[in-house]
Amino acid sequence: MGRLPMPGPIKRVLVPIWNEAHRLGWLVREQSAAILSGSTSLCSVCGKVRPMIYRRRVVPEKLVERWGLTPELAAALARKESSDCAGCGAKLRARRLASVILETFPVGSPPAPARSLAGWVKSPEAARLRVAEINRIDGIHEVLRALPNFASSDYHPGALPGEIVEGTRSEDLTRLTYRDESFDLVLTSESLEHVPDLDAALGEIRRVLVPGGRHIFTIPVLPDEPRTFSRAELRPDGSIKHLAASIHHPGGDVGYLVFTEFGADLPEILRAAGFELTVHFGPVRDDDLAQVYGCERIDS
Ligand SMILES: [Zn+2]
Repeated sequence: MGRLPMPGPIKRVLVPIWNEAHRLGWLVREQSAAILSGSTSLCSVCGKVRPMIYRRRVVPEKLVERWGLTPELAAALARKESSDCAGCGAKLRARRLASVILETFPVGSPPAPARSLAGWVKSPEAARLRVAEINRIDGIHEVLRALPNFASSDYHPGALPGEIVEGTRSEDLTRLTYRDESFDLVLTSESLEHVPDLDAALGEIRRVLVPGGRHIFTIPVLPDEPRTFSRAELRPDGSIKHLAASIHHPGGDVGYLVFTEFGADLPEILRAAGFELTVHFGPVRDDDLAQVYGCERIDS
């Protein structure tokens, strides 16, 4: 008989302690590795000088294999999706997005970029801005919700547009429920690639922005891919037509299907949708995939 020698009640107490100790051990190892590798810097979200923790395992080997990533690309993707600030947890793409917000909307007199988003939200200039976070961006969300004119939402499959689900407003990028010209700044992060109708999404973002308003966002862009292409199409009956090998990003029960794969023609696509694009932290390279895109609504 393979009975464990440990009595049940003792096991119930010891196993969580063991698991917690294991988790703390990992944490200490990650933090000390970040400190030793010299990646301690000022966080543009919380404003503290903290180790930035690189976690290679955020990109599982199974995905590396399925997506056919080179080791260099896998490491660049893991940097984008980790390099977490040990203070506030903001990952690299969130911290870079914060830096672009600070640069795009300078505060003070004379106007200058604030050192951190945590400082920026306290300024009268930021308090006047109407900001929409279409999908929750961890790290940034916790700071921006201090703004008086802040609308936050997320996409809940199956919910009605604008419906409140578990305390969060559900918004579908292809049919936003916000009024025309109601925001100075719209934020999305790793969302546009999952939208079945990209033109509709860009049209909606433009519609809810004031003229001259900004959409600051992140998306995956493939290095060496000259043209944007569709991996899948949503048929009118709701079924999905797969055009190229389908790719799912982690999340949900089965992951989120990628509809659009972006390439080097991104500026033209955005110009056709009525935006002028500025690429921050570019260009896209095999060793740096964490670009931030800043779009201004153009009205000619
Ligand atoms: Zn931080």
